[in-house]
Amino acid sequence: MYIGLGYDVHRFKKGLPLILGGVQIEHKEGLLGHSDADVLIHALMDALLGAAGLPDIGHHFPDTDLQYRNISSLLLLKEVMEMLERERLLVRNVDITLLAERPIIRPYIDRMKENLSKIIGIPPARIGIKATTNEKMGFIGRGEGIAAMAVSSVEPKEQPRKR
Ligand code: MG
Repeated sequence: MYIGLGYDVHRFKKGLPLILGGVQIEHKEGLLGHSDADVLIHALMDALLGAAGLPDIGHHFPDTDLQYRNISSLLLLKEVMEMLERERLLVRNVDITLLAERPIIRPYIDRMKENLSKIIGIPPARIGIKATTNEKMGFIGRGEGIAAMAVSSVEPKEQPRKR
């Protein structure tokens, strides 16, 4: 079994939609980014790529590439799953923590899990999504943006044959 770790952060900007885990969240501002700035899925993708020993999302989806402008991160996650498929890896579980002073994420978690479950191909029970504030400390605490941390575990589809 292999473990991967991912981290991402995006800053808030007024007039943008807030999309987390592929769900549009009601909030007075959204996150700034080249794609839809779905910080949760970005951290998750890096955790999956890391477990597979592959380069990070900046390598696969550079923000200089116009085809990724405003793209749904759910589509990028699909591409990452195809990369894992090519490596003949199965995802066992993923776990994600959002760090945000606001908004309250809890009402949206089930829908996020559903979105991720469909693409990763594991049941919602193998997907952890939780959120914490930063106790008003630092840039998260001042409400300047949202950060996300993720881990994943994957395993090879076939066990290597014993000699
Ligand atoms: Mg990002």
